[in-house]
Amino acid sequence: MGFPTQRLRRLRRNQTLRSMVRECDVNRDDLIYPMFVVHGRGIKREIKGLPGNYHHSVDQLVEEAKQVRDLGILAVLLFGIPEKKDANASEAYAENGIVQQAVRALKREVEGLTVITDVCLCEYTEHGHCGIIENGYLVNDRSLELLAKVTVSHAKAGADIVAPAAMLDGQIRTMRSALDQDGLIDTAIMGYSAKFASKLYDPFFKQCTHSAVAFGDKRTHQMDFSNSDEAMREIALDVEEGADIIMVKPALFYLDIVARAKAEFKMPLAVYNVSGEYVMLKAAAEAGRLDEASVRMEMLTAFKRAGADLIITYFAKEAARELH
Ligand SMILES: [Zn+2]
Repeated sequence: MGFPTQRLRRLRRNQTLRSMVRECDVNRDDLIYPMFVVHGRGIKREIKGLPGNYHHSVDQLVEEAKQVRDLGILAVLLFGIPEKKDANASEAYAENGIVQQAVRALKREVEGLTVITDVCLCEYTEHGHCGIIENGYLVNDRSLELLAKVTVSHAKAGADIVAPAAMLDGQIRTMRSALDQDGLIDTAIMGYSAKFASKLYDPFFKQCTHSAVAFGDKRTHQMDFSNSDEAMREIALDVEEGADIIMVKPALFYLDIVARAKAEFKMPLAVYNVSGEYVMLKAAAEAGRLDEASVRMEMLTAFKRAGADLIITYFAKEAARELH
């Protein structure tokens, strides 16, 4: 049976029919908004090159987070920009570090908002690498000890979910056991499970966190973008080590990985729609070459269709407004 009995255009004839048979939608509660917190007071500074995104001091972060929550977004992902950096990233696990202060303020003042913290060291090391460097190489196990300290300090400050971003071997196991030893059994872990070494992160490091690497690159720990089987091995290890949510990063060029990860693991799955993806669309829209709102929704829907449950995106506020 085929044409003329079957005519797939029958259900595309008008908006009502199309809505009735739509297979997936983006919802406001799929969105996670990344936020950047700096020291000081009264600061709300737009990030150059990432329009609509800001560096906030804690007091302003709270105000912005209330607006984010009121738009129907359920969660934010926090990144900190410390005042001083050193070889051991000591500000990353300082009790009164910038993220720890921000988490306490958000949990105290923004009811109903889930706070996720990025757990890495690259914003806090003077060289911009994700851990301790010896002879130009990122050493794994000693860096894990620091990540465990960061994790516990974020969780004690009140973080609901911690998100290890470094792609070090054993990071989930290390963090889970550090949390459990401290009785923090309900703090969830969202692993940056398949994080690829991508130039699409450049706007983030150059403009959001000012932590571009001083030498070398991150290809000894982040994944080669040619590999898909290896991504499944990375995710499998994160699941086995205790990740509650898995992630694929970047998102747009990696939808094959997303689809495969959803099919193989059936786990809550996040994608990170990274800064480079954001600026590509913004630049094209500014130049009058693409319609931003339409392409934005097409892109976010593609993440959902591929299998993502959660979308970390700099477009969260604009998308939430549109979906409201
Ligand atoms: Zn890092």
